[in-house]
Amino acid sequence: MSKSETLFARAQQTIPGGVNSPVRAFKAVGGTPRFIQKADGPYMWDVDGKRYIDYIQSWGPMVLGHNNAEVREAVISAAENGLSYGAPTEAEIIMAELVSETVPSMEMVRMVNSGTEATMSAIRLARGYTNRNKILKFEGCYHGHADSLLVKAGSGALTLGVPSSPGVPEDFAQHTLTVEFNNLASVQAAFDQYPEDIACIIVEPVAGNMNCIPPVPGFLEGLRSICDKYKSVLIFDEVMTGFRVAKGGAQAHYQVTPDLTCLGKVIGGGMPVGAFGGKRDIITHIAPTGPIYQAGTLSGNPVAMAAGLAALSQITAEGFYDSIFENTKILAEGIRDLAHSHGIPMTINYAGSMFGFFFTDVEKVTNYQQAINCNTKQFNQFYHGMLEQGVYLAPASFEAGFVSKQHTKDIVDATLQAVNTVFASIEK
Ligand code: PMP
Repeated sequence: MSKSETLFARAQQTIPGGVNSPVRAFKAVGGTPRFIQKADGPYMWDVDGKRYIDYIQSWGPMVLGHNNAEVREAVISAAENGLSYGAPTEAEIIMAELVSETVPSMEMVRMVNSGTEATMSAIRLARGYTNRNKILKFEGCYHGHADSLLVKAGSGALTLGVPSSPGVPEDFAQHTLTVEFNNLASVQAAFDQYPEDIACIIVEPVAGNMNCIPPVPGFLEGLRSICDKYKSVLIFDEVMTGFRVAKGGAQAHYQVTPDLTCLGKVIGGGMPVGAFGGKRDIITHIAPTGPIYQAGTLSGNPVAMAAGLAALSQITAEGFYDSIFENTKILAEGIRDLAHSHGIPMTINYAGSMFGFFFTDVEKVTNYQQAINCNTKQFNQFYHGMLEQGVYLAPASFEAGFVSKQHTKDIVDATLQAVNTVFASIEK
């Protein structure tokens, strides 16, 4: 028995499913999750001493690669002054200034402790600000696990939402409308039906929770004009895309300005951090300047701020993203070309340093239905083959992959060699 197997069996005695976040349990692909000992640069090592090239990167945060020396030192140095005060610090101001400078639509910023908190708070703010109850989201987009957001589409295109998890009251879910990603007509239809009831549209500007699906040209622009027309708040959930798809996030890349933005992952340099912010006249409606309540004992934590600032100061340097974007392109196109040379139908998507590959003969995947119709059997075989070869991909075909600054051309070449070996062995 491997050490991971032993630990997984033990973990299941006291931790539900043996994990503290479900996707880590390898349920979609089967097998035993690897318990991790340490990580450095592009690599992670499991407790059995096996090394992996890691394309999960802690699900996005580690854009600098693992164990970045400056981030590590900033954390150690901040910890020497105490771990938490529950009182304001200068680091929080520097963080807000830096975020605001890098993502100019975020005129004011409130720090929180996770992506879920950021989206949950932004939605409360949008509802309180507009005095409307309904929200509109997209099928296949994930925004954390708050009640209003664990909702899927009803059976007809425009039925009210239904809970996607037990424990979410139907009374909540009915305020969430779910329509098709990349389909403006479905958004317009929702606003035709509820012209004065929709507080906000929340969207992942590049969807990263149904594999990787970028917006089709005009989609984000269309959301902007619909929100303007109906006085609804446009929220970009950039928890995944922020500081990843471009320095200024997807809004800089696609040149569409939301009213509110949610951040997480990269902004904390690996520590538990999230943020939301946006237009001054909207965000000042939260406490203590306004009546909409939002708070957090550990929000703006000094150690987390130190990690985030040390990460952002490197990421915001001129030209930081050039090599990452180039290597992402080489990787994604390389996987597709190898698949085709082995007679395996495949299409790919990538945006900045996010990528996805789909085992399908559909030419371009642009929505959830296409994503879920891909060949999961082939994906699972590929997944385990790659793990065996020492490449750690997301253990489900509905997740984006991430490339860091430490995934150099050599690392990408080594990955493609492994891909070639695995494609030779999987069922066609
Ligand atoms: N929004 C998006 C787009 C995400 O990808 C995630 C997490 N994967 C969240 C929100 C929730 O973030 P967290 O897991 O930090 O609560």
